Amino acid sequence: MGSYKNSAILLDRAKQVLAGGVSSEFRKYNHPHAIFYSHGKGSRIYDVDGNEYLDFTLSQGPLILGHSHPHVLKSVAEYSEEGQLYAGQHIREVELAEKLNALIPSAELMRFCLDGSEAVQTAFRVARAKTGRKKFLRFEGHYHGWLDNVAYGISAPNADALGDREQPNVFPWTAGLPDSSRDDFIVLPWNDLELVGRVLEKRHEEIAAIITEPIMCNNGCILPKEGFLSGLRELCNKYGVTLIFDEVITGFRVGLGGAQSYYGVTPDLSIFAKAMGSGYPISAIVGKREWMELVAAGKVIHAGTMNAGNPTVAAALATIEVLEQEMPYDRMHRLGRKLMQGLQRTAAEAAQDLSVQGLGPMFVTYFGVSQPLSDYRDTLGTNKAKLGRFVAGLHDAGVRVIGRGLWYISAAHTEAEINQAIEVASRVLHDMN
Ligand code: PLP
Repeated sequence: MGSYKNSAILLDRAKQVLAGGVSSEFRKYNHPHAIFYSHGKGSRIYDVDGNEYLDFTLSQGPLILGHSHPHVLKSVAEYSEEGQLYAGQHIREVELAEKLNALIPSAELMRFCLDGSEAVQTAFRVARAKTGRKKFLRFEGHYHGWLDNVAYGISAPNADALGDREQPNVFPWTAGLPDSSRDDFIVLPWNDLELVGRVLEKRHEEIAAIITEPIMCNNGCILPKEGFLSGLRELCNKYGVTLIFDEVITGFRVGLGGAQSYYGVTPDLSIFAKAMGSGYPISAIVGKREWMELVAAGKVIHAGTMNAGNPTVAAALATIEVLEQEMPYDRMHRLGRKLMQGLQRTAAEAAQDLSVQGLGPMFVTYFGVSQPLSDYRDTLGTNKAKLGRFVAGLHDAGVRVIGRGLWYISAAHTEAEINQAIEVASRVLHDMN
């Protein structure tokens, strides 16, 4: 791999005017520092130093079809020619809503927004209005955007610091949070149905909704235990609590109907973003009619100047068209599993304590803990420094994965590229000895 010299020069320049040199905090944490890219095509991305990477970050998930998919680009260009934003309706947003309605079990009524964070907030507002209750139950280590009321409970210095499972300590993720947002939430460890049941029994009259990533992808890549999601569904029915699935990552990634289709559990409200728009800013808050009628009637206000403009709706329609035509899911699951197995095998050959966990279209690699991870507390025991060396080694060798060890597979990845990634990982793992 060549140098990162031009990126370093641009980063110095950027830091004079962009806070920290970046437009999103997570972009700081590339290797060896924030990197400037020049273009992306299919499964590859290129930086300003001429380095080429086989890209498994997919821009943190959105690029399910790979970079610069021609059908998406063409549709965006065509619809943009007609106009950009009307402060009024256009036919294609209805077509997109009809499409989501047909594909996603809980999507009886919906609204479009720009990103996952604001769609999550819309879901909270609807749930509060529907139930007349104030609090939300959420889970340790789950990420629901960067806004105030979801910024407690994302991070912790170590598992011990989290304390009692029934009444965990919650830590602020950032300075500048109002104390009041700490009171919006009850935070519990994930994947423990019995614990959720006990807390709901005592406190359900305070709780408007449970929000969960149906697969925990923001710390580890942890599948729900058998019966966990359906158990949440039953508890929510029993106690009149709204069930919200945050499908920002799982939506259009594990299948066309999201994790709710994959697991056969229908939430009351859910959020779709990332892969829905191939990198264009569009998200959706979708839900059962009984909940979303509150928005339809204007009792719950949802608004946004930039919502559902021509280019973003075009991107989403085109992405879903390609996904429907090509149905790449079996292939993505298969290639992902092949990569997971290859990494595991190669790690054993290199005598490295690497573990791999996930579901093919996305999975995580971690070091230092041999048993499968089942919640956030488990992830805190993994060897982060070693993971950092692995990710950096891959990057230097032209394979780009997310710093926390998460790998995304796109419809553009080929069998040969999966083999290539395994070979590169093998070299890196041997060199780490
Ligand atoms: N929810 C989940 C599960 C996410 O992974 C993210 C972002 O990574 C969000 C919500 C926030 O979405 P956005 O970054 O589009 O605001």
